Amino acid sequence: MAAACTHIGAIADVKKPRRRECDECVKMHATWVHLRTCQTCGATLCCDSSPNRHASKHARASGHPVIASAETGEPWLYCYPDDAFGEY
Ligand SMILES: [Zn+2]
Ligand SMILES: [Zn+2]
Ligand SMILES: [Zn+2]
Repeated sequence: MAAACTHIGAIADVKKPRRRECDECVKMHATWVHLRTCQTCGATLCCDSSPNRHASKHARASGHPVIASAETGEPWLYCYPDDAFGEY
C-alpha cells in the first residue's frame, strides 16, 4: 500500500501501548474514550472524543506527527500535520 504521507511511510514498526490508559488522564484522575499511541515517543494518550484530548495536545506541543490507534482491532495510523490516515 502506498503511504498516505512521508511521516506514515517512515514508520517501520508500529509502537503499541505500554498500558491501556492515558498517561495524562491517570495523573489528573480524568477519564477518556479511546486511546492513541504516539509513534515518535510511545506515549499513550486520549483521543479527540475524550474530554482532555491529550493526544492532539501532545502532537501540537511536541511536534510528534503520527499516532496509532491503541484500540484492539483498529490497525490504523494518523498524521496530524497532513491530516492523513494509513493502515498497517
Ligand atoms: Zn505526515
Ligand atoms: Zn488523556
Ligand atoms: Zn510523542
